[in-house]
Order: sequence, then C-alpha cells, then structure tokens
Amino acid sequence: MSEFEITWPSGVRAAAAFTFDVDAESCALAHDPALARRTSVMSHQSYGPRVAVPRILDILDGHGVRATFFVPGYTAELYPDTVRAIAERGHEIAHHGYLHENMLGLDEAEELAVLDRGLDVLRDVAGVVPTGYRAPWWEMNWHTPKLLAERGFRYDSSLLDGDRPYRFTAAAGADLIEIPVDWALDDWEQYAFFPGWTGSGVIEDPDKATGMWYREAAAHHRWGGCFVLTNHPFLSGRPGRAHALDELIGRVAALEGMWVTTLAEIAEQAWSTCTATFTHLRPEMPAPTRAPGQP
Ligand SMILES: [Zn+2]
Repeated sequence: MSEFEITWPSGVRAAAAFTFDVDAESCALAHDPALARRTSVMSHQSYGPRVAVPRILDILDGHGVRATFFVPGYTAELYPDTVRAIAERGHEIAHHGYLHENMLGLDEAEELAVLDRGLDVLRDVAGVVPTGYRAPWWEMNWHTPKLLAERGFRYDSSLLDGDRPYRFTAAAGADLIEIPVDWALDDWEQYAFFPGWTGSGVIEDPDKATGMWYREAAAHHRWGGCFVLTNHPFLSGRPGRAHALDELIGRVAALEGMWVTTLAEIAEQAWSTCTATFTHLRPEMPAPTRAPGQP
C-alpha cells in the first residue's frame, strides 16, 4: 500500500460500494439528440427511474446497505419523486453531469456551467449538496479536478488507475480523493443492448455477470482493495438481473471485514488517512521518430 492510499478503519479488511448511475434518458439524448424521436428507446431508459429504482431501493433495504446514486440533473427534473425517495431512504446522491454530457473538449467555463446546472437541480429537487462526482462515460478532462475542488467536491470516481482510494493534486494547493473504477465492474458491458444505439448484441446471463463481479470482490477482499460496482437501473434493475444483484450484495456483505458503505464515507476515511498526495502525469507526445537523413 502506498502513502497516497487509504488505510481502512480498525477491523476492516476491504471495502465495497454499490453505485448506481441513474442515467435514464439523459445518456441516450447526450449521445444522439435524435433518439428523442424513438419512443421505444426512451421507454427503455425511463424503465430505470420508474420501475427499477424502487426495486433496487427495496433490495438495498433488505441488506441494510446504503449505496451511492449518481444522478444527472435532467433525471432529477424528470423524476423528482424518484430522486427524493433515494435521498429519503438514506442513500448518497452524487453528481453525474446535467444531461450526461461528454465533457471531452469542453473548456473550463463550459464544463463549469454544466457542473453548476447539475448542482442547482440536485439542490432544488432533493435539497442535496453532493460531495462526490462521476464524469459521464468516466471521461474527465485534465482540468476537471480543479473545477471540482473549486466547487467544494470531496471526491471523484471516474479514473481507472488504482485498486484503493487515494489522494491527488487537483490544482495548486487543492487536493481531491479519487475512488477508482473499472470497466469490468460496469453492467453496461454485460447487459446494454438497443438496436441502432448501443451494445454488442450479446446480453449476458446474470449468473455470469455477477459471478465475475463476485470474483473481483473476493480479490479486493484478499488484497485490501475497494470494490466499486457501477450499475445502471435501466439495465440491472430488470427482474432476473436484480435478483442476481440481490444475491451478490448478500455474498459480498458476508465477506469477513468487508465494509459495505457509500463512496462519501469511503472518501472521508481517505481524507483522514492518506498521508501523501499523488500527482497525475500528463503525457506529452514525444517528437516523431525520423529515419536517418530525414529533416
Ligand atoms: Zn452515466
């Protein structure tokens, strides 16, 4: 374990967080505004907040587990009762853009405007000031951490360079906590399929998906890591998948010394125990290789 990384509380061997990105229509509309014309695509997305989130909340209650829900502002505007129910039942609500914007290529002012719009909606709809951020599609700009620090965020969960939370430089004189993610722990690759929009066409068996995720959880448990599962209610909230997720949560929570909690609580533990600050290296393209005699 490096000095940049978290130390777990006494009696804790590893941590697990179940996170839900409540993208609903927003991720489809951000990908292609023309998808708004497709009633069936929109219904596939609205299944998340309308049908799946209530089921997932009951499953979490059954295990006494609190989870982290990343909610785009547009989702909160369309489904205020669903978003308020998430908060009222004790879960964490975190920031996930306004319309699930792809931030790549946005300059600082444009990205800050999106951050502020999301913050305003979460405050107005659910009375929430989020401390956590997850970039839509896990796509951050190099300047994003500085903006997060300026707006008082405590952690990000969009990067892929660790097995444990760590403290890093967001800007001169400002740090953040990163809680890393992993594409193998995202349900999109297992379940997403809509003709003409997304997915490979293969919809995996929930036993295969949750079997793979349990193996990751057991390995994080072995090495003192932080298991962060990313699920989308419109995908993982379908009956068979929700049933398998219910079983998975039970198995992960039963691992001895596994701390199952929200990302916000994990981040605070990192703030109080990381003893050094990591700085990400932004690579620069080296000069092209030239054959002898070339200018
Ligand atoms: Zn998302």
